[in-house]
Amino acid sequence: ASPERAPHALKGAAAGGERVGVLLPLALSGAYDYLVPEGLRLAPGDYVTVPLGPRLMVGVVWGPGSGEVADKKLKKVADRLDVPPMPEGLRKFTEWVADYTLSPPGMVLRLAMRAPGALEPPRLCTAYRLAEGAEAVLPKMTPARTRVLDVARDGFARRSGELAEEAGVSAGVVKGLADAGVLEKVAFTTERGFDVPDLEVPRPALSAAQSDAAAAIGTRVEEGGFETFLLDGVTGSGKTEVYFEAAARALAAGRQVLILLPEIALTSQFLDRFEARFGCRPAEWHSDLPARERRRVWRGVAEGRARIVVGARSALFLPFAELGLIVVDEEHEIAFKQDEGVHYNARDMAVVRGSLGAFPVVLASATPALETMANVWAGRYRHLVLSERHGAAQMPDVFAIDMRADPPERGRWLSPRLVKSMAQGLAKEEQSLLFLNRRGYAPLTLCRSCGHRLECPQCDSWLVEHRFRKELACHHCGYTAPSPKACPACGAEDALVACGPGVERIAEEVTELFPEARVALLSSDVLRGPAAYREAVRQIEEHEVDIIIGTQVVAKGHNFPLLTLVGVVDSDLGLENGDLRAAERTFQLLHQVSGRAGRAEKPGRVLMQTYMPEHGVMRALLSGDRDAFLEREAAGRERLGYPPYGRLAGIVLSSPRLDQLQALARDMARLAPLSEKIDVLGPAPAPLALLRGRHRMRFLVKARREAHIQGYIAQWLAQVQIPAAVRVAVDIDPYNF
Ligand code: ADP
Ligand code: ZN
Repeated sequence: ASPERAPHALKGAAAGGERVGVLLPLALSGAYDYLVPEGLRLAPGDYVTVPLGPRLMVGVVWGPGSGEVADKKLKKVADRLDVPPMPEGLRKFTEWVADYTLSPPGMVLRLAMRAPGALEPPRLCTAYRLAEGAEAVLPKMTPARTRVLDVARDGFARRSGELAEEAGVSAGVVKGLADAGVLEKVAFTTERGFDVPDLEVPRPALSAAQSDAAAAIGTRVEEGGFETFLLDGVTGSGKTEVYFEAAARALAAGRQVLILLPEIALTSQFLDRFEARFGCRPAEWHSDLPARERRRVWRGVAEGRARIVVGARSALFLPFAELGLIVVDEEHEIAFKQDEGVHYNARDMAVVRGSLGAFPVVLASATPALETMANVWAGRYRHLVLSERHGAAQMPDVFAIDMRADPPERGRWLSPRLVKSMAQGLAKEEQSLLFLNRRGYAPLTLCRSCGHRLECPQCDSWLVEHRFRKELACHHCGYTAPSPKACPACGAEDALVACGPGVERIAEEVTELFPEARVALLSSDVLRGPAAYREAVRQIEEHEVDIIIGTQVVAKGHNFPLLTLVGVVDSDLGLENGDLRAAERTFQLLHQVSGRAGRAEKPGRVLMQTYMPEHGVMRALLSGDRDAFLEREAAGRERLGYPPYGRLAGIVLSSPRLDQLQALARDMARLAPLSEKIDVLGPAPAPLALLRGRHRMRFLVKARREAHIQGYIAQWLAQVQIPAAVRVAVDIDPYNF
């Protein structure tokens, strides 16, 4: 899709008395006009403060004013900030994203300005040193003053306290000399600088397939121009080495590099590898960074001091002026999709940024998204394939355990065959991993006496028991309550039963089965923050753990050489929901988890517990025939006109009042424009019909590929009167439905 609205092109600068359009980081329809005060010259991209109502606000000069408001009614720009202007590439990108996602441009701008305090000049400290020529014009000297002079004669700058202490005088003496002009003030910042990546670090020779791939990307980087590559290779095939090499070539060519990762907090191993390759830590960017660090990185990127950034999806909006390469690792991950505010997919928007900025983009994955493969098939992306694991490591053997034929004992979740393999692994002093993508102890608590199910009071979801924390939690809104003793509905004591397993329950079973084994439970409830995560990884690496039980936090990116067995507790879990991508996602996740086994010399095995061994996903995992699976998926979607062969958008309406919501939804349904190429489905209750106390209804807009879905939705929404209490969220290319 291409944006309808052309970016405002403002070539020259605007001088005093002229008007400029200033975009503010707010949900407004566009830039607001302001007058340039005398003595100021403003160019597009300049950060300025402007009055808005009673306060001053920072915005960006976006273009010439629209001229709609008479000059005398206009307010004046207050000031220009001392930061590098927003690069043209980022301004174009902001507009593009706004048009594509149907968001107010100011809301996208907000993503690009989200570095608290970044726009204020860095805080400076003051130090003193001997002023030039001061010796010739000394004022009246005292012994104390002479001692200060003696210290300062070495020419170094010192803070006032330091200088006074070294000279053995009071701070007042230093001040007196400064006032007299003998000492001069110098300003300095205590902020950490950025390491320069070392491109000469010795590194392993690449395999033939690796160097071909690196050369293809590297050549494009050096020649310039947009191209998207899919770097496609099984886990452990050396994709990271390839894109590090491409990044090194971009850095050598004087360009900045951005590496996007799905879950930045989970990447201590990645940062170590980065450091081994480039001799320094990269600049990091993600939402867990303290404000000060975000400010430092934002500035560093804007001023070109930070040459390479590793970040989560929002790093895409950093003010790079010389960006020459974006890598999106694990491009299929849904963590790249932002589902709040501006709904965007960082993978897709990275490709857009590359196309606007005329530089290459690399998408890396062992299990590419169907959308990405479709782009390869259509010749839009260049396919670089690494078909083998590096070195002696082999792909693991994958087996299904048919739970109908080999059921666990009553009240247990692990089949005898899986338990036996774990016992063998323990005997050989190897590690095993049990994977279950479900936090907590049990996903549902039910009263045996009256059938009542414990539900979240604010959401349409069950409460999940967390036995270790002795509480029930809603995984959608964060609501928690202590686990009740009696049923809240009928009051029966000891009647509440836990239904189904979560990882905590599996951990309990494993401890009973193998009391001597050292067990580690890894889920986001246990691993709060990067430090806990690093510690868990260290324990596994140093073989302080025999059996790892984990949710998807263990699925990705790790190399554990002693890990030879992966057991998937419930392979059918993700297939239950009716989501369009349920099969694709289950395949990706289970393939990733399987990839944890046998990363080094020791061969690995994967045992998948399933009630549906004949399901297409299971067959693909067993045969390892990913492409046949993707082709079948593609054929199904093409037949139904679903993405990537058709286009989809979700419109979610939410309100605390159900009657109001339903009335609005009915009105909207009536007002939907007729189109041959576009169907509107709904309104229907959204997948979470109640979330955080708000009722939710949804329309799905399903369009043919060539239809302009944004234009259609904009035209539709323009006719609808939306009450203040109702929120409308438009999600182009939605993931959850
Ligand atoms: P992927 O990103 O495809 O999962 P990695 O780049 O992590 O694969 O490589 C897997 C392992 O093989 C890593 O330990 C890496 O250091 C090693 N490796 C990859 N390529 C080479 C190479 N050319 N020489 C030596 N070791 C390599
Ligand atoms: Zn809830």
